[in-house]
Amino acid sequence: MKYSIRMRAAEGGSHEEGGRHISGAERILTEEEIKEVTNELIERALTHSKGRPDFIRITIDTIDEEAIQYIPALPSDTVHVDSMEEGRKEAVAFLTERGISQEAAQIGIRTLLDLDENMRGAVLLDARSGQRLDTKGMRGIRVTKMDFANPQEASNVLTNRGLPYIHHQEAVVLASKVLAAPGIVGELCWSDDPEYVAGYVSALKDGQGHYHRISQMKPLHSQNGGRVFFLDGSVPLAETIAYLEKQVVLVETPK
Ligand code: AMP
Repeated sequence: MKYSIRMRAAEGGSHEEGGRHISGAERILTEEEIKEVTNELIERALTHSKGRPDFIRITIDTIDEEAIQYIPALPSDTVHVDSMEEGRKEAVAFLTERGISQEAAQIGIRTLLDLDENMRGAVLLDARSGQRLDTKGMRGIRVTKMDFANPQEASNVLTNRGLPYIHHQEAVVLASKVLAAPGIVGELCWSDDPEYVAGYVSALKDGQGHYHRISQMKPLHSQNGGRVFFLDGSVPLAETIAYLEKQVVLVETPK
């Protein structure tokens, strides 16, 4: 039996009461692993650099193992840039080379810069017009029910490739699921963690997805950050959202 474990933490009340989002995490685990990892997630929520939460919710559901979809991890690389301006230019260039319009890519950057508080989910934008498609306001769409199929093995491989932190590894899981979603053609992200200035873009070229990490996307000590997913309109929006929120996905160890 496998379980989906979700953690989210906020300060100033629950997210629903307008509390400030501090951290969140998604795992898929066996019964034996639940207790240990739940402790780790609580520890993480309580020691986050964004502050101390007064609301932590852990949700544990059983999952139907027959419904699990196995997907490959996106291949990844890292580009080192000298400034956040260069990083953002690099992000726009990567996205526009893969079919996302210049306008939509720029609106994606602007959307994240304009966030004056942290969302717990992502903003969905049309990949051509840059128009916002979801109606979730500051909640956004949260991707859940995902993990590496073999977390220890995947962690070893990514560590050897220069992605040693849990933050990187969780981002590869999330980005792999997001780009596998029907209707999604790209993603832009930089972390809201004040100590973490890197970000990434991912997108499809000739049907093949790629995760492109960029060493600097924002100033150090800034809590500004978030995620934008770009959609091409090929399927109804509800289908994309259902996949992101409900489809159980395990990501294979990167090759
Ligand atoms: P993090 O990777 O935790 O630094 O997250 C940065 C931002 O990405 C968060 O503030 C959210 O806006 C967004 N985000 C994080 N996790 C998810 C998720 N599971 N689904 C959608 N958006 C997310």
